[in-house]
Amino acid sequence: MYKISLITGDGIGPELSESAISVLETIHDKTDLKFDIQKLLAGDIALKQTGNALPEDTVKSIKNSDVCLKAPVGESAADVIVVLRRMFDLYANIRPAKSYPQMPALRDDIDMVIVRENTEDLYTGKEFRLGDAAVALRIISEKASKRIAKYAFETAVQRNNMKKVTCVHKSNVMRVTDTLFADSCKEISREYPQIEFEEMYVDACAMNLIRQPQKFDVIVTTNLFGDILSDESSQVVGGLGMAPAANIGDNFALFEPVHGAAFDIAGQNIANPSSFLLSLKMMFDWLGKKNNDSKCFDVGTKIESVIFDLVKKGLKTKDIGGDKTTSEFTREITKLL
Ligand code: ATP
Repeated sequence: MYKISLITGDGIGPELSESAISVLETIHDKTDLKFDIQKLLAGDIALKQTGNALPEDTVKSIKNSDVCLKAPVGESAADVIVVLRRMFDLYANIRPAKSYPQMPALRDDIDMVIVRENTEDLYTGKEFRLGDAAVALRIISEKASKRIAKYAFETAVQRNNMKKVTCVHKSNVMRVTDTLFADSCKEISREYPQIEFEEMYVDACAMNLIRQPQKFDVIVTTNLFGDILSDESSQVVGGLGMAPAANIGDNFALFEPVHGAAFDIAGQNIANPSSFLLSLKMMFDWLGKKNNDSKCFDVGTKIESVIFDLVKKGLKTKDIGGDKTTSEFTREITKLL
């Protein structure tokens, strides 16, 4: 029995959570995998109801679970996800971008993953006013850089792809911080002679993601660059509605869609649940690896292939050119599972 903590979130979060619960309940009923799902409050709704975007009870339940699923939260996102990443030392943010059939992708042969350092950079919140200026501290450590580089190379080893790691930085301008990051990646690359290693400035990378996205395999980069490049890469393969993400530490992991709460479409039953369901797939892969449980890998593979087949048949939500509602699309998935 896997204990899953589920932050239901704001905006389209509750709709995506219902979709994920339907899929998990179907797997629970149809396979040997069993779940105990605990729905938790965090984000704008928690702030409104309790005065705290990340209530103590929520943190306690997450600590008590095997893994956390997080639907998007609204304005208070930084008070939830950034805090959780640091609290559980979820240092690797993994964002795959893959071409699916019948999707408005730039090409049909894109298959890359962005490995983003998740604990440092400008996201540590160390900002202050100094006279008429505002100052933000950019923190890059050798320890965190080597740790994320190692994760990126291990990812490349496990993928059936071109086995290449691209280290993205801007060391020609940020000569101290990004030179440390690049040198750390270079040092780790020596432990993996079978993996091609290249470096790329972040502006060139932003351009190449559009010009020749098929040339990327694993990108490793710092927190802010990774945040921006992964939104870009999700658009390159057809949109945020299909973009999953994982936040991984040594002992715990949290899975969430790349996108935010999308208030503009909330409550209309038109959100694409694939981003969250593909995050579920990543969750099963992680549980499978951690617990040496092949059933988890099987279920993860099945979820992805069902979404792949539906999209191929043109059964899609509105954001990617179809006419299925969130609940209709979810029903199609549970039927095929
Ligand atoms: P944040 O800053 O929290 O990341 P954002 O301002 O980037 O949020 P998102 O909520 O991430 O905005 O999404 C941008 C737009 O993409 C939304 O306004 C919505 O129209 C569309 N979108 C995002 N996710 C989905 C989805 N799952 N299904 C359909 N459309 C989506």
